[in-house]
Amino acid sequence: MTSGGPNGEPAAVGGAITPQVSPDPTPGSRVCPGCQERTPSPFFGGSGGYTWRRCGTCRLVYVDRVPSAEEFDELYGSYYRPDNLAVPAFLRERARQILAPFAAYRQTGRFLDVGYGAGLFLEIAQAQGWECWGQEVAPEAVRAGRERGWTIVQGDLLDVQLPKGTFDVVCFTEVLEHLVEPVAYLKAIFHLLRPGGVLYATTPNSDAITSRLKKTDWSIFTPPEHIQVFNPPSLRRLCRRLGYGEIRIKTEGLNPAELRKPPAASGGAAQPHRNQTGFELNERLESGGALRFLKRTANAGLTLTGLGESLKLYATRPIE
Ligand SMILES: [Zn+2]
Repeated sequence: MTSGGPNGEPAAVGGAITPQVSPDPTPGSRVCPGCQERTPSPFFGGSGGYTWRRCGTCRLVYVDRVPSAEEFDELYGSYYRPDNLAVPAFLRERARQILAPFAAYRQTGRFLDVGYGAGLFLEIAQAQGWECWGQEVAPEAVRAGRERGWTIVQGDLLDVQLPKGTFDVVCFTEVLEHLVEPVAYLKAIFHLLRPGGVLYATTPNSDAITSRLKKTDWSIFTPPEHIQVFNPPSLRRLCRRLGYGEIRIKTEGLNPAELRKPPAASGGAAQPHRNQTGFELNERLESGGALRFLKRTANAGLTLTGLGESLKLYATRPIE
């Protein structure tokens, strides 16, 4: 099942991060994309010519206007290049550790990765015996996924046809921060899960220590690429409202290079090397037992305090 534009042309490149129609790029026009309340939301900071606000109701940090169609085109026109699809080797082991516990949810055997990109999770899930499904828009990723025998739908998650109520696990990593309407996606995923199935999502944490120290100088505050940054309270509140049952949120990870880095030059343009720096650091921490122990201890502390840079969500669809 594929889905393209109205005339059958290939859909725009960009995966699940492809925005829906942007209704109004006027500054100040955007209601909180989490709780959708019109509460006064104090100024949080500025970057890339955008104003960030912190919602007075749910504490979500978001830009106060949606990007224009032109800004999105420029951003996502070449989002996936071949080098974005290469996966550093150490990430495979990490992915195995992340996915192994989902075996406890296996009933239908169906595993869906929304916006699977390079396909690392699907590759590992397949090796762990799952029936792999993926959603993507980028033609290169779609082709690669089909060649590996996965069931791939091409197009925006809100447009494609997927069997409802059948997935044991839906992965949704590093997508929430890009979406004009995150609520619509979390709702769609809820209906794709079988009762008792689990959503696994990751996204940056605006309560992270880095965010507290650097505010919008932290390199994740990069509109129009990132247009909201959740934190545990805002994400928990949203998932509850959408009907998710058991909701578990951890925060982990800290990138010391980020704290050392001088503030971005005015404008806060995207900094493509952020992930690379994080990878290198993680790679060093993954090799060597003592360092690994330190990292685990640090992550436990960051989870307890909610100060880690990455927010990890596990949310189940209740059994009716
Ligand atoms: Zn809100």
